[in-house]
Amino acid sequence: MVITHTIICSTCKTQHLLKITLGHEINQYHTFPCTNCEEEIKFGLEGLPDKGEYKYLKNCEFQKFEYHEAIQVLLHPDLSVGNRVVAAGDVITATLLNVKEMARIGKQQVSKKVKDHRSSFHNSNSEKLRFYLKIWSLIRNDKADIANTYAKENAGGVEAELRNNENQYILDFLNHFIGEFGLSIYSSLENEWRKIQESSTLKSFHAAQDYDEYDIFEEFFDHYSEFSQVFLYLNRGISIDGKRKSSSSDFNKTKKYYSSAYEALAKRLYIPAGINNLIERGDASTFQRLSSLTVYMSTGNGDKLRCLSNSSELSIVDACYDNNLRNASFHNNMTFNPKKSKITYTKNNRDSCSLAYQEYLVFCVKITEALAAYKLFSINHLEQS
Ligand SMILES: [Zn+2]
Repeated sequence: MVITHTIICSTCKTQHLLKITLGHEINQYHTFPCTNCEEEIKFGLEGLPDKGEYKYLKNCEFQKFEYHEAIQVLLHPDLSVGNRVVAAGDVITATLLNVKEMARIGKQQVSKKVKDHRSSFHNSNSEKLRFYLKIWSLIRNDKADIANTYAKENAGGVEAELRNNENQYILDFLNHFIGEFGLSIYSSLENEWRKIQESSTLKSFHAAQDYDEYDIFEEFFDHYSEFSQVFLYLNRGISIDGKRKSSSSDFNKTKKYYSSAYEALAKRLYIPAGINNLIERGDASTFQRLSSLTVYMSTGNGDKLRCLSNSSELSIVDACYDNNLRNASFHNNMTFNPKKSKITYTKNNRDSCSLAYQEYLVFCVKITEALAAYKLFSINHLEQS
Protein backbone atom coordinates (compact mmCIF):
# COMPACT_ATOMS: atom_id res chain seq x y z
CA MET A 1 0.00 0.00 0.00
CA VAL A 2 1.22 3.49 -0.83
CA ILE A 3 0.18 6.42 1.33
CA THR A 4 0.40 10.03 0.29
CA HIS A 5 1.26 12.91 2.60
CA THR A 6 2.04 16.59 2.15
CA ILE A 7 4.96 18.28 3.93
CA ILE A 8 7.17 21.31 3.52
CA CYS A 9 10.88 21.63 4.19
CA SER A 10 11.24 23.74 7.35
CA THR A 11 14.35 25.44 5.95
CA CYS A 12 13.29 26.61 2.50
CA LYS A 13 9.51 25.91 2.63
CA THR A 14 9.59 23.80 -0.55
CA GLN A 15 6.49 21.64 -0.79
CA HIS A 16 6.97 17.88 -1.09
CA LEU A 17 4.38 15.25 -1.75
CA LEU A 18 5.57 12.06 -0.07
CA LYS A 19 4.44 8.78 -1.59
CA ILE A 20 5.43 6.17 0.94
CA THR A 21 5.06 2.46 0.47
CA LEU A 22 4.14 0.74 3.72
CA GLY A 23 6.61 -2.00 4.53
CA HIS A 24 6.58 -4.85 7.00
CA GLU A 25 7.70 -2.99 10.12
CA ILE A 26 5.56 -1.40 12.84
CA ASN A 27 7.61 1.80 12.56
CA GLN A 28 9.39 3.04 9.48
CA TYR A 29 11.67 6.04 9.09
CA HIS A 30 12.97 7.84 6.02
CA THR A 31 15.85 10.26 5.75
CA PHE A 32 16.37 12.11 2.48
CA PRO A 33 17.64 15.50 1.28
CA CYS A 34 15.21 18.34 0.55
CA THR A 35 14.83 18.54 -3.24
CA ASN A 36 15.65 22.25 -3.16
CA CYS A 37 18.06 23.17 -0.32
CA GLU A 38 19.33 19.60 0.19
CA GLU A 39 19.11 19.87 3.98
CA GLU A 40 18.32 16.52 5.53
CA ILE A 41 14.64 15.73 6.16
CA LYS A 42 13.57 12.93 8.50
CA PHE A 43 10.04 11.66 8.37
CA GLY A 44 8.56 8.63 10.09
CA LEU A 45 5.43 6.52 10.40
CA GLU A 46 4.75 4.78 13.69
CA GLY A 47 2.16 2.28 14.83
CA LEU A 48 1.59 0.56 11.51
CA PRO A 49 -0.22 -1.25 9.98
CA ASP A 50 -3.15 0.25 11.89
CA LYS A 51 -3.87 3.92 11.51
CA GLY A 52 -0.22 4.93 11.82
CA GLU A 53 1.03 8.23 13.14
CA TYR A 54 3.09 10.73 11.14
CA LYS A 55 6.34 11.83 12.74
CA TYR A 56 8.01 15.03 11.61
CA LEU A 57 11.42 14.17 13.01
CA LYS A 58 13.67 16.72 11.39
CA ASN A 59 13.41 19.72 9.09
CA CYS A 60 9.84 19.11 7.95
CA GLU A 61 6.27 20.00 8.89
CA PHE A 62 2.77 19.28 7.69
CA GLN A 63 1.14 21.66 5.25
CA LYS A 64 -2.02 21.13 3.31
CA PHE A 65 -1.89 21.61 -0.46
CA GLU A 66 -3.16 19.96 -3.61
CA TYR A 67 -1.30 16.87 -4.75
CA HIS A 68 -0.57 18.25 -8.22
CA GLU A 69 1.15 21.33 -6.76
CA ALA A 70 4.23 19.65 -5.34
CA ILE A 71 7.25 17.66 -6.41
CA GLN A 72 6.96 14.02 -5.34
CA VAL A 73 9.42 11.98 -3.30
CA LEU A 74 8.92 8.22 -3.50
CA LEU A 75 9.98 6.29 -0.42
CA HIS A 76 10.11 2.56 0.14
CA PRO A 77 11.39 0.89 3.32
CA ASP A 78 12.28 -2.53 1.94
CA LEU A 79 12.85 -2.27 -1.77
CA SER A 80 15.86 -0.44 -3.06
CA VAL A 81 13.89 1.73 -5.42
CA GLY A 82 15.55 4.94 -4.23
CA ASN A 83 14.13 8.16 -2.89
CA ARG A 84 13.04 9.01 -6.38
CA VAL A 85 11.97 12.53 -7.07
CA VAL A 86 9.13 12.78 -9.55
CA ALA A 87 7.46 15.79 -11.17
CA ALA A 88 4.29 17.21 -9.65
CA GLY A 89 1.13 15.56 -10.92
CA ASP A 90 2.79 12.29 -12.04
CA VAL A 91 0.45 9.54 -10.90
CA ILE A 92 2.04 6.39 -12.31
CA THR A 93 5.77 6.38 -11.55
CA ALA A 94 5.48 5.36 -7.90
CA THR A 95 3.40 2.27 -8.62
CA LEU A 96 5.38 1.41 -11.72
CA LEU A 97 8.72 1.48 -9.88
CA ASN A 98 7.44 -0.87 -7.22
CA VAL A 99 5.90 -3.22 -9.75
CA LYS A 100 9.08 -3.29 -11.86
CA GLU A 101 11.25 -4.02 -8.85
CA MET A 102 8.93 -6.81 -7.70
CA ALA A 103 9.10 -8.29 -11.21
CA ARG A 104 12.92 -8.09 -11.21
CA ILE A 105 13.00 -9.88 -7.86
CA GLY A 106 10.58 -12.50 -9.10
CA LYS A 107 12.86 -13.36 -12.02
CA GLN A 108 15.98 -13.91 -9.90
CA GLN A 109 17.51 -17.32 -9.50
CA VAL A 110 18.00 -18.08 -5.83
CA SER A 111 20.47 -20.83 -4.92
CA LYS A 112 19.04 -24.08 -3.55
CA LYS A 113 21.14 -23.72 -0.42
CA VAL A 114 19.54 -20.38 0.46
CA LYS A 115 16.05 -21.59 -0.47
CA ASP A 116 16.36 -24.67 1.74
CA HIS A 117 17.76 -22.66 4.62
CA ARG A 118 15.03 -20.01 4.39
CA SER A 119 12.31 -22.63 4.29
CA SER A 120 13.31 -23.59 7.84
CA PHE A 121 14.30 -20.10 9.01
CA HIS A 122 12.00 -17.65 7.30
CA ASN A 123 11.83 -13.89 7.98
CA SER A 124 9.13 -11.67 6.60
CA ASN A 125 10.32 -8.68 8.64
CA SER A 126 12.51 -8.02 11.68
CA GLU A 127 9.91 -9.02 14.30
CA LYS A 128 10.96 -12.62 14.73
CA LEU A 129 14.63 -11.67 14.87
CA ARG A 130 13.90 -9.05 17.54
CA PHE A 131 11.99 -11.68 19.49
CA TYR A 132 15.02 -14.01 19.50
CA LEU A 133 17.36 -11.14 20.33
CA LYS A 134 15.25 -10.20 23.36
CA ILE A 135 15.54 -13.77 24.64
CA TRP A 136 19.31 -13.70 24.07
CA SER A 137 19.46 -10.47 26.10
CA LEU A 138 17.56 -12.07 28.98
CA ILE A 139 19.72 -15.22 28.93
CA ARG A 140 22.99 -13.30 29.07
CA ASN A 141 21.63 -11.40 32.08
CA ASP A 142 20.86 -14.72 33.81
CA LYS A 143 17.11 -14.28 33.44
CA ALA A 144 16.34 -17.69 31.95
CA ASP A 145 12.95 -17.91 33.72
CA ILE A 146 11.81 -14.59 32.32
CA ALA A 147 13.21 -15.60 28.91
CA ASN A 148 11.05 -18.73 28.89
CA THR A 149 7.93 -16.85 29.98
CA TYR A 150 8.59 -14.19 27.38
CA ALA A 151 9.04 -16.88 24.72
CA LYS A 152 5.76 -18.60 25.63
CA GLU A 153 3.83 -15.35 25.55
CA ASN A 154 5.27 -14.00 22.32
CA ALA A 155 6.34 -16.91 20.10
CA GLY A 156 2.88 -17.29 18.53
CA GLY A 157 2.71 -13.65 17.49
CA VAL A 158 5.93 -13.89 15.48
CA GLU A 159 5.45 -17.49 14.29
CA ALA A 160 8.49 -18.72 16.18
CA GLU A 161 8.85 -22.31 17.36
CA LEU A 162 8.82 -22.88 21.12
CA ARG A 163 11.99 -24.52 22.45
CA ASN A 164 12.60 -26.68 25.51
CA ASN A 165 16.06 -25.26 26.02
CA GLU A 166 16.23 -21.45 25.98
CA ASN A 167 19.76 -21.49 24.49
CA GLN A 168 18.23 -22.89 21.33
CA TYR A 169 16.71 -19.44 20.70
CA ILE A 170 20.20 -18.01 20.19
CA LEU A 171 20.80 -20.60 17.47
CA ASP A 172 17.41 -19.68 16.02
CA PHE A 173 18.43 -16.04 15.96
CA LEU A 174 21.69 -16.77 14.15
CA ASN A 175 20.07 -19.13 11.66
CA HIS A 176 17.40 -16.59 10.83
CA PHE A 177 19.98 -13.82 10.55
CA ILE A 178 22.42 -15.37 8.10
CA GLY A 179 21.67 -14.93 4.43
CA GLU A 180 23.53 -16.06 1.35
CA PHE A 181 26.89 -14.61 2.42
CA GLY A 182 26.75 -15.89 6.01
CA LEU A 183 25.67 -19.31 4.78
CA SER A 184 28.62 -19.54 2.40
CA ILE A 185 31.00 -18.75 5.29
CA TYR A 186 29.26 -21.23 7.56
CA SER A 187 29.24 -24.10 5.11
CA SER A 188 32.87 -23.58 4.11
CA LEU A 189 33.85 -23.70 7.80
CA GLU A 190 31.98 -26.98 8.13
CA ASN A 191 33.59 -28.38 4.96
CA GLU A 192 37.06 -27.62 6.30
CA TRP A 193 36.14 -28.84 9.76
CA ARG A 194 35.36 -32.31 8.39
CA LYS A 195 39.01 -32.69 7.37
CA ILE A 196 40.12 -32.44 11.01
CA GLN A 197 40.52 -35.39 13.36
CA GLU A 198 41.68 -33.82 16.61
CA SER A 199 40.48 -30.29 17.43
CA SER A 200 41.00 -29.84 21.18
CA THR A 201 43.58 -27.03 20.77
CA LEU A 202 41.02 -24.82 19.02
CA LYS A 203 38.21 -25.76 21.40
CA SER A 204 40.27 -24.84 24.46
CA PHE A 205 41.41 -21.53 22.92
CA HIS A 206 37.78 -20.73 22.11
CA ALA A 207 36.66 -21.61 25.64
CA ALA A 208 39.11 -19.06 27.05
CA GLN A 209 37.62 -16.15 25.05
CA ASP A 210 35.34 -14.14 27.24
CA TYR A 211 32.93 -11.96 25.29
CA ASP A 212 29.91 -12.31 23.10
CA GLU A 213 28.63 -10.51 20.02
CA TYR A 214 25.26 -9.55 21.43
CA ASP A 215 25.97 -5.79 21.50
CA ILE A 216 26.70 -5.68 17.78
CA PHE A 217 23.43 -7.36 16.92
CA GLU A 218 21.58 -5.02 19.26
CA GLU A 219 23.19 -2.04 17.51
CA PHE A 220 22.23 -3.55 14.15
CA PHE A 221 18.56 -3.62 15.13
CA ASP A 222 18.75 -0.11 16.57
CA HIS A 223 19.58 1.03 13.03
CA TYR A 224 17.37 -1.49 11.28
CA SER A 225 15.31 1.14 9.43
CA GLU A 226 18.46 1.82 7.40
CA PHE A 227 19.72 -1.76 7.04
CA SER A 228 16.25 -3.06 6.13
CA GLN A 229 16.75 -1.57 2.67
CA VAL A 230 19.25 -4.28 1.80
CA PHE A 231 18.93 -6.84 4.60
CA LEU A 232 16.01 -8.89 3.28
CA TYR A 233 17.50 -8.97 -0.22
CA LEU A 234 20.76 -10.46 1.09
CA ASN A 235 18.86 -12.68 3.51
CA ARG A 236 16.98 -14.23 0.59
CA GLY A 237 19.95 -14.37 -1.76
CA ILE A 238 18.52 -11.75 -4.14
CA SER A 239 20.91 -9.36 -5.84
CA ILE A 240 20.44 -5.64 -5.44
CA ASP A 241 20.03 -3.39 -8.43
CA GLY A 242 23.14 -1.19 -8.18
CA LYS A 243 21.57 1.41 -10.47
CA ARG A 244 19.11 2.35 -7.79
CA LYS A 245 19.82 4.30 -4.63
CA SER A 246 18.69 3.43 -1.15
CA SER A 247 15.51 5.26 -0.22
CA SER A 248 16.61 6.42 3.23
CA SER A 249 20.10 7.69 3.89
CA ASP A 250 20.56 8.36 7.58
CA PHE A 251 24.32 8.13 7.32
CA ASN A 252 24.93 9.72 10.74
CA LYS A 253 23.20 6.76 12.30
CA THR A 254 25.18 4.05 10.52
CA LYS A 255 28.60 5.58 9.85
CA LYS A 256 30.26 4.11 12.96
CA TYR A 257 28.58 0.74 12.70
CA TYR A 258 30.97 -0.84 10.22
CA SER A 259 33.99 -0.28 12.44
CA SER A 260 32.21 -1.77 15.49
CA ALA A 261 31.20 -4.88 13.57
CA TYR A 262 34.69 -5.15 12.04
CA GLU A 263 36.33 -5.10 15.49
CA ALA A 264 33.94 -7.76 16.75
CA LEU A 265 34.61 -9.95 13.73
CA ALA A 266 38.39 -9.56 14.11
CA LYS A 267 38.06 -11.04 17.60
CA ARG A 268 36.68 -14.24 16.05
CA LEU A 269 39.18 -14.70 13.26
CA TYR A 270 41.06 -17.25 15.36
CA ILE A 271 38.30 -19.61 14.19
CA PRO A 272 39.30 -19.79 10.49
CA ALA A 273 42.98 -19.28 11.39
CA GLY A 274 42.85 -22.15 13.90
CA ILE A 275 41.02 -24.44 11.47
CA ASN A 276 43.62 -23.67 8.81
CA ASN A 277 46.43 -24.49 11.25
CA LEU A 278 44.74 -27.73 12.27
CA ILE A 279 44.48 -28.82 8.65
CA GLU A 280 47.99 -27.73 7.70
CA ARG A 281 49.93 -28.56 10.86
CA GLY A 282 47.63 -30.49 13.23
CA ASP A 283 47.64 -27.83 15.96
CA ALA A 284 45.37 -24.74 16.05
CA SER A 285 48.15 -22.62 17.52
CA THR A 286 50.96 -23.52 15.09
CA PHE A 287 51.30 -20.97 12.30
CA GLN A 288 53.82 -20.82 9.52
CA ARG A 289 55.36 -17.67 10.97
CA LEU A 290 53.60 -16.69 14.22
CA SER A 291 54.26 -18.57 17.44
CA SER A 292 50.68 -18.98 18.78
CA LEU A 293 46.99 -18.01 18.50
CA THR A 294 47.56 -15.56 21.34
CA VAL A 295 50.24 -13.79 19.30
CA TYR A 296 47.92 -13.93 16.27
CA MET A 297 45.18 -12.16 18.22
CA SER A 298 47.56 -9.33 19.10
CA THR A 299 48.63 -8.72 15.48
CA GLY A 300 47.03 -5.83 13.59
CA ASN A 301 43.49 -6.57 12.47
CA GLY A 302 44.34 -5.49 8.94
CA ASP A 303 46.84 -8.38 8.68
CA LYS A 304 44.67 -11.10 10.16
CA LEU A 305 43.53 -12.66 6.89
CA ARG A 306 47.06 -13.04 5.50
CA CYS A 307 47.57 -16.46 7.05
CA LEU A 308 44.44 -17.66 5.20
CA SER A 309 45.61 -16.66 1.73
CA ASN A 310 46.23 -20.33 0.83
CA SER A 311 42.60 -21.26 1.54
CA SER A 312 39.83 -19.97 -0.71
CA GLU A 313 37.26 -21.65 1.56
CA LEU A 314 38.39 -19.96 4.76
CA SER A 315 39.01 -16.55 3.24
CA ILE A 316 35.48 -15.93 1.91
CA VAL A 317 35.16 -13.43 4.76
CA ASP A 318 37.64 -11.23 2.89
CA ALA A 319 34.74 -9.89 0.78
CA CYS A 320 33.32 -7.95 3.73
CA TYR A 321 36.48 -7.36 5.79
CA ASP A 322 37.95 -4.05 4.62
CA ASN A 323 40.57 -2.35 6.77
CA ASN A 324 40.44 0.89 4.76
CA LEU A 325 36.70 1.19 5.30
CA ARG A 326 37.09 0.24 8.96
CA ASN A 327 39.62 3.05 9.55
CA ALA A 328 37.49 5.62 7.74
CA SER A 329 34.42 4.53 9.71
CA PHE A 330 36.26 4.43 13.05
CA HIS A 331 38.06 7.77 12.65
CA ASN A 332 35.04 9.53 11.20
CA ASN A 333 36.89 10.12 7.95
CA MET A 334 33.97 9.66 5.61
CA THR A 335 32.04 12.43 3.92
CA PHE A 336 28.55 11.89 2.69
CA ASN A 337 26.80 13.51 -0.24
CA PRO A 338 23.08 13.02 0.48
CA LYS A 339 21.90 14.07 -2.97
CA LYS A 340 24.12 11.52 -4.71
CA SER A 341 23.80 9.11 -1.78
CA LYS A 342 27.55 8.61 -1.97
CA ILE A 343 30.31 8.22 0.63
CA THR A 344 33.84 9.44 -0.02
CA TYR A 345 36.75 8.43 2.18
CA THR A 346 40.53 8.29 2.24
CA LYS A 347 42.24 4.92 2.20
CA ASN A 348 45.22 4.01 4.38
CA ASN A 349 47.55 4.84 1.46
CA ARG A 350 45.91 8.32 1.20
CA ASP A 351 44.10 7.49 -2.06
CA SER A 352 40.58 8.84 -2.23
CA CYS A 353 37.80 6.38 -2.83
CA SER A 354 34.02 6.44 -2.96
CA LEU A 355 31.13 4.06 -2.67
CA ALA A 356 27.35 4.33 -2.85
CA TYR A 357 25.58 4.47 0.50
CA GLN A 358 23.71 1.36 -0.54
CA GLU A 359 27.02 -0.50 -1.04
CA TYR A 360 28.08 0.64 2.42
CA LEU A 361 24.87 -0.83 3.87
CA VAL A 362 25.66 -4.10 2.07
CA PHE A 363 29.13 -4.14 3.68
CA CYS A 364 27.52 -3.60 7.09
CA VAL A 365 25.00 -6.40 6.62
CA LYS A 366 27.58 -8.83 5.24
CA ILE A 367 30.06 -8.30 8.05
CA THR A 368 27.25 -8.85 10.57
CA GLU A 369 26.26 -12.04 8.74
CA ALA A 370 29.89 -13.19 8.95
CA LEU A 371 29.81 -12.57 12.69
CA ALA A 372 26.61 -14.62 12.97
CA ALA A 373 28.17 -17.43 10.91
CA TYR A 374 31.24 -17.69 13.20
CA LYS A 375 29.04 -17.56 16.27
CA LEU A 376 26.80 -20.29 14.91
CA PHE A 377 29.80 -22.42 14.00
CA SER A 378 31.40 -21.98 17.41
CA ILE A 379 28.23 -23.01 19.26
CA ASN A 380 27.64 -26.02 17.00
CA HIS A 381 31.22 -27.29 16.78
CA LEU A 382 33.54 -25.70 19.34
CA GLU A 383 31.26 -25.77 22.35
CA GLN A 384 29.79 -29.28 21.99
CA SER A 385 31.86 -32.02 23.52
ZN1 LIG B 1 14.68 22.77 1.78
